[in-house]
Amino acid sequence: MDITEKNLLLLSSDRPARWLITGAAGFIGSNLVETLLRLDQEVVGLDNLSTGYLINVEEALDGVGASQRARFQFIKGDIREPGTCARACEGVDYVLHQAALGSVPRSIEDPALTNANNVDGFLNMLVAARDAEVKSFVYAASSSTYGDHPDLPKVEDTIGRPLSPYAVTKLVNELYAEVFQSCYGFKAIGLRYFNIFGPRQDPDGAYAAVIPRWFAAMLRGERPVINGDGETSRDFCYVDNAVQANLLAARCPNPEAHGQVYNVAFGQRTSLNELFGLIREIVGQVRPSALDMEPEYGPERPGDVRHSLADISKARSLLGYEPAFDVRQGLQKAADWYLPSLSGAEAVMR
Ligand code: NAD
Repeated sequence: MDITEKNLLLLSSDRPARWLITGAAGFIGSNLVETLLRLDQEVVGLDNLSTGYLINVEEALDGVGASQRARFQFIKGDIREPGTCARACEGVDYVLHQAALGSVPRSIEDPALTNANNVDGFLNMLVAARDAEVKSFVYAASSSTYGDHPDLPKVEDTIGRPLSPYAVTKLVNELYAEVFQSCYGFKAIGLRYFNIFGPRQDPDGAYAAVIPRWFAAMLRGERPVINGDGETSRDFCYVDNAVQANLLAARCPNPEAHGQVYNVAFGQRTSLNELFGLIREIVGQVRPSALDMEPEYGPERPGDVRHSLADISKARSLLGYEPAFDVRQGLQKAADWYLPSLSGAEAVMR
C-alpha cells in the first residue's frame, strides 16, 4: 500500500492520535487500518465480521512493523448495539465510520436488514462519538445518493430521488450527520464514495463488486457477465484515493468544511466495456488465453443508475483532496494483489 506524501505530511509530526475504524475487517476499512498504522497512529478496529474477514485485518497488520502492530486493537462487535459503540469510542480522537451493509441488490432483497445496519447502526455510532467528544467523525456516504438525477458530472448539492433501499440508508446518514452538526455542533463529514476498488475487495459471493468479480472470473477462465449493454459507466476510484480523502477530512482544520458531504472519486468516466478491456489486458499478462475472452451480456440490474461521474472540485478546494491514481494505474496496483491471491486457485479464495 502506498502512502501518499500528503498523508505523511498530515500526520508525521504529531503525537499518535487514536482512530476508530468501524468496518475494519472490510475492504476500505482494512486499507485505512494499514495506512494509519504505517503512520504510527493508534488504531481501534470494530467489525462484526458479517461481510468482512479477519484475514483482511491480518493482512493489514502483516504490512506494518511490529511496533506499529502493537498499536492496534480489534473489537469484534456490532454497531447495532449502542454499548459496543460507546466502548469502541472510548478515548478516540477520530472516527472513520465504514461499517455498513453494502450492495444495492442486497438491500432490495432485504431492506430491513440493510436499514438496521446502515441507519440504526449509524445513529448508534453518531451518539457514541458525540458522547465521547471525538474531534471529528468521517463516514462512508455513497454516490447512490444521486439516485435518478440525470446531471453529469454529479455535484454535491444536486441530488435526485433514491433508486434503492441502500441509497435511502445512505441519504438518511447524511441527514442525521447534518442534524448532529446543527443540534450538537458535532463535526461530521460525509464522503460520497464512487465505486472504490483495490486490494482486499471481496471477489466472492452474490453481492461482489464488478472489478474483483471480473478479475476472479477471468483468472478462472470464465467469461465475466456484464449487466446490460456495457455502456453503463462509472467513476472508478482506487482505494488509496479514498484513504487520502478520509485522513484529510478527519483532520481538516477549516470549520466551513465540517458538516458537509464530498464526492470521492477520480473524476473520470469508464464504461463497463472499457473496464472489461482494461482488466482483460492485465489478466492477459499472466493468463494469455484471457486476451481472447469476450464478455457475456445479461439483463440490467434493477436499482442501478446508468451513468456516474463525479465533480471532485469541492473535495479539492475544501479538503485539499488530490487523487493520485487513475483507473488504469489503480487496476494495475489492484492486480498486484488479485493476481497472486486468485491465480492458481481452483475456486476463489475464502
Ligand atoms: P465491506 O463489506 O468490505 O466492509 C464493510 C465492513 O463493515 C465489513 O467488514 C462488515 O463486516 C462490517 N459491518 C457491517 N455491518 C456491521 C455491523 N452491524 N457492525 C459492525 N461491523 C459491520 O465494504 P466496503 O466496500 O469496504 O465499504 C465500506 C463502506 O463504504 C460502507 O459503508 C459502504 O456502504 C461504503 N461505500 C463503499 C463503496 C465501494 O465502492 N466499495 C461505494 C460507496 C459506499
